[in-house]
Amino acid sequence: MKRRAVFLDRDGTLNEDVGYPSSFSQIRIFPAAFEAVKKIRDAGFLAVVVTNQSAVGRGLLTEAGLNIIHENMKAAFAAAGAPLDAVYYCPHYKPSDSPRYGIVCACRKPAAGLALKAAADLDLDLSASYVVGDKSGDVEFALNIGATPVLLQSGGGRESQSRLEEKGLHPSFVAADVLEAVNWILKREGSGIQA
Ligand SMILES: [Mg+2]
Ligand SMILES: [Zn+2]
Repeated sequence: MKRRAVFLDRDGTLNEDVGYPSSFSQIRIFPAAFEAVKKIRDAGFLAVVVTNQSAVGRGLLTEAGLNIIHENMKAAFAAAGAPLDAVYYCPHYKPSDSPRYGIVCACRKPAAGLALKAAADLDLDLSASYVVGDKSGDVEFALNIGATPVLLQSGGGRESQSRLEEKGLHPSFVAADVLEAVNWILKREGSGIQA
């Protein structure tokens, strides 16, 4: 049987959105994020981070540097008893001069690429999965992959909400933070309501 994931955005969802962090020392993980990830895993879902990191394409950070940040984040979550199952990122930035990063890619959210890669690697049922994020692009990403979108107000969520309303797109739930989002998901699962 295929597995299910809660896809988690990174900046503004798991940690404070501070622009383009270039080292782990700039990453402040929300305390509630540890409990949220633990609950996700206890409920049998995989916790999979999906993040646009155009800082790489913008030349603000190398891909090796980004991987070091992610290794540190994984270690922090594991140390809190809430290991992340995987981290997928898009390093691209279309206006970049770099031939490697200056492309129109298929992996920058809201494009589906990161989820398709995760689904292939981890044997996921995307239609039975969830996406939690603070940007309109996270909600669009969820709709593009057939998952259930939860929008957060913890990062850029309020602004995102009006942008989504203009487009006629609706998250299934709007939560104050990632823990409230996960509590809603687990309650919904418990009540047997399906997408
Ligand atoms: Mg975000
Ligand atoms: Zn990309």
